Amino acid sequence: MFGREGHDVGSDWLRRARISVLLVGLSVFVIVGCEDNSADAPGTTTAGEPGAEFGLVIHGGAGTITRESMTSELEEGYRRSLEAALEAGYAILEDGGSAMDAVIAAVMVMEDDSLYNAGRGAVFTSEGTNELDAAVMDGVDRNAGAVAGVTRVRNPIELARLVMDESPHVMMAGEGAEVFGEQFGIAQVDADYYYTERRWEALERAREDEEITLSWHLEDDRMIGTVGAVARDRDGNLAAATSTGGMTNKRFGRVGDVPVIGAGTYASNESCAVSATGHGEYFIRNVVSREVCARMEHRGESLQEAAEAVVMVQLADHGGTGGVVAVDRDGHFSMVMNTPGMYRGHYMAGGTPFTAIYADEGDGR
Ligand code: ASP
Repeated sequence: MFGREGHDVGSDWLRRARISVLLVGLSVFVIVGCEDNSADAPGTTTAGEPGAEFGLVIHGGAGTITRESMTSELEEGYRRSLEAALEAGYAILEDGGSAMDAVIAAVMVMEDDSLYNAGRGAVFTSEGTNELDAAVMDGVDRNAGAVAGVTRVRNPIELARLVMDESPHVMMAGEGAEVFGEQFGIAQVDADYYYTERRWEALERAREDEEITLSWHLEDDRMIGTVGAVARDRDGNLAAATSTGGMTNKRFGRVGDVPVIGAGTYASNESCAVSATGHGEYFIRNVVSREVCARMEHRGESLQEAAEAVVMVQLADHGGTGGVVAVDRDGHFSMVMNTPGMYRGHYMAGGTPFTAIYADEGDGR
């Protein structure tokens, strides 16, 4: 039922978003064609041409983020916070550190910031608790680690990395994952660590709405704030990391796309690294992150072409809302969304930190 409603509600926006992508694409073509300024545009999208030697791209969630729904203080806070996350990851890459270390550092900055629906600012379940999901993937060997439904871990992304590095498994859930983390001294927190008034009020609104509509209609506003990062290091290695509190008012141990490798998180040195954000059920069903990389590998598409095809066409036609950030093996980057906004930013070698919130701010190229 909510799938149909979601499609109807989003379809107008999706149509407009697709037109703007076409227009942005056309103007990029015209500008690049006229001025040939590709040399000072790190991460230019042309397949086969070298992009930036190293760099990272991050997101802090996608959804109905509009200027009307934002105060200047909040907006300023997001921009500062995104920049801090970019700086943390970039410093590691600049020093010759790995893409994996860089994405973990960037995501941890955002997990520790209550602005986002990850770590500290995680949304509440219908029981008023917090259940967090996270995943990492290393493009070098396609090793991956994920945790689902953890309730007392300060930085779930760290635990996901431990699963990858210290266990023979890819995904651990709930209590078991927490006990595993304890054995490695992972930082634990009390439940009230995650409490923020903003997220609690969102739960109360969601509960009221559910009582009134008696339906499971899921507004994308109920999950805005998932965080993610992708990076390419000086050795050409790629990595992806994503962390979330999931969906406000979720029940029955619901797990979203974030810890599902290939859906919310994916990395392969053969093509690209992707971190997604949006209505998780649709991202799982469309295997969004892997699909972007697969299109590059099998169809020879550029990163930008692949990301747009998956997010603006495939996912959108299915009624799924959200976006992705991605970087490819040649150092190109992409930030694509079919929603009015996505907290996002990039910092590519040879460039400067760029942050944006609303879809019409583009991607800084
Ligand atoms: N994808 C996340 C989930 O469904 C939520 C989000 O990215 O906003 O759990």
